Amino acid sequence: MTLDMDKSSHKIGLAANIAMVRERLKKACLEAGRPLEEITLTAVSKTQALEKIEQALELGLNVFGENKVQEAASKWPMLRKTHKNIELRLIGPLQTNKAKQALGLFDVIETLDREKLAAALAKEIAKGAPSIPLLVQVNTGEEPQKSGIDPRRAVDFVKYCQQHYGLNVVGLMCIPPANESPSPHFALLAKLARRAGLREISMGMSGDYDIAAQLGATHVRIGSAIFGERI
Ligand SMILES: *Cc1c(COP(=O)(O)O)cnc(C)c1O
Repeated sequence: MTLDMDKSSHKIGLAANIAMVRERLKKACLEAGRPLEEITLTAVSKTQALEKIEQALELGLNVFGENKVQEAASKWPMLRKTHKNIELRLIGPLQTNKAKQALGLFDVIETLDREKLAAALAKEIAKGAPSIPLLVQVNTGEEPQKSGIDPRRAVDFVKYCQQHYGLNVVGLMCIPPANESPSPHFALLAKLARRAGLREISMGMSGDYDIAAQLGATHVRIGSAIFGERI
């Protein structure tokens, strides 16, 4: 009984968080003159327990982001058995030796960030792995410790992945530097996506998704504003 009450109060909290995020997105879209339907809410479920993710599914969320292949593999094949129409997106770095597993597990990979990975993905696809949509991660802040393609090389890299490797590149993603205003980074990513002729722009997290929505995001990746602070 106590446990059930606890569960349902968590679900109410989750529902309130989702409603709040949707409301802020709606307001940002209104201000930017964009239809809300242009923006997909990706719920970032990394580190979250199965039970909480199940509640999010029951509340109608169906697009999720995970940042680790192993963790996603331990949670999502099970969840997919009971819930249909889930879209699972990899938003964390991918090692080449996990390319095959990632192509089988995710619906979209957002973190194509180097040529070696493009080659590894193409090799697995040639051997029969599904050719899923990919986003190129751009290091808009040119931070040495951060993965991603240099913004000056991004458009050429996209073309190379498409033409040389035959990869299904559909968009760009970025994670702006932590201690800077994100706006110039979001504006740059949107500009590069337009130049490369790509439809998906993945940017904006819990602290700045409304700014990203105003600057052209098609996908916002939101963890803590939905699920609460991660432990
Ligand atoms: C964890 C993570 C997020 C979500 O971060 P929040 O601040 O909790 O919304 C978004 N994108 C990436 C790449 C992440 O690793």
